[in-house]
Amino acid sequence: MFDTLQDRLADVFKGLRSKGRLTAADIDATMREIRIALLEADVNLGVVKEFIAAVKERSLGIELSKALNPSQQIIKIVNEELVTILGGEARTIRFAKRPPTVIMLAGLQGAGKTTLAGKLAKWLRGEKHAPLLVAADLQRPNAVNQLQIVGERAGVHVFAPEPGNGVGDPVKVARDAIEHAQRRLYDVVIVDTAGRLGIDETLMQQAADIKAAVNPDEVLFVVDAMIGQDAVNTAKAFEDGIGFDGVVLTKLDGDARGGAALSIAKVVGKPIMFASNGEGLGDFDVFHPDRMASRILG
Ligand code: GDP
Repeated sequence: MFDTLQDRLADVFKGLRSKGRLTAADIDATMREIRIALLEADVNLGVVKEFIAAVKERSLGIELSKALNPSQQIIKIVNEELVTILGGEARTIRFAKRPPTVIMLAGLQGAGKTTLAGKLAKWLRGEKHAPLLVAADLQRPNAVNQLQIVGERAGVHVFAPEPGNGVGDPVKVARDAIEHAQRRLYDVVIVDTAGRLGIDETLMQQAADIKAAVNPDEVLFVVDAMIGQDAVNTAKAFEDGIGFDGVVLTKLDGDARGGAALSIAKVVGKPIMFASNGEGLGDFDVFHPDRMASRILG
């Protein structure tokens, strides 16, 4: 997804390295080139401005005449500031002191929540947890079915509404699921909620009701990295509407420019916890800001 950005930055750094000495004007020119590369990759304008200002200030702080290898130092600064933009330290699920840990997934329809529920469950199993998936997406007729398929693939039980009992009431399903988890000793409950095509009152209200009913330890906002600046706007709307603790970027395997998604951590001040890069259950990983920065910088 970040091939073009990688290539552009590689060119900028190559130009920089080819100069033995650097002047303040060289730094200015480099910052301009990095700025354009980031904007072309669709990184949010405000984030770009802040990033460039930080890199520039630190770069001008290098004593250019004395520095042994100024270009190397500037590249190091770019790397460090990129890690900061991406959220700094990696952070994943914080488990509740008293199980079950409740994780609620929120996001627009098609963001990849149901798929992510399976990926997360599989990952948790690998971490020696006993997760339970909860089908609280009762909006789409096929959603429960889809979660059941995902659950089967992940080898994880799915709690779904019994016909005639709570059908149509995701809040009740979510609440019942927590009780079920307590009785059956599941230590993590993953609640898949309904999304809609766009942000609307009903969506936010339902998500907020589920949140109030199950008091989740972690609310994860799931977002398709391919939707460009809408990823940032949607994140803001969900943060204002229900509030969340972390971000999951999906479809990082896509070929769209994904810079906008990389701006989310900075814009909403919440960590990107996981990244999804394919339709398979294994196409998933903990998000490491430092590794992503290194990947982008080549
Ligand atoms: P939901 O509506 O938020 O539950 O989204 P789904 O989990 O149903 O995903 C919507 C579509 O995106 C499905 O066709 C998934 O297979 C696909 N999908 C989910 N995550 C990824 C991903 O990381 N990469 C790709 N390429 N496709 C994905």
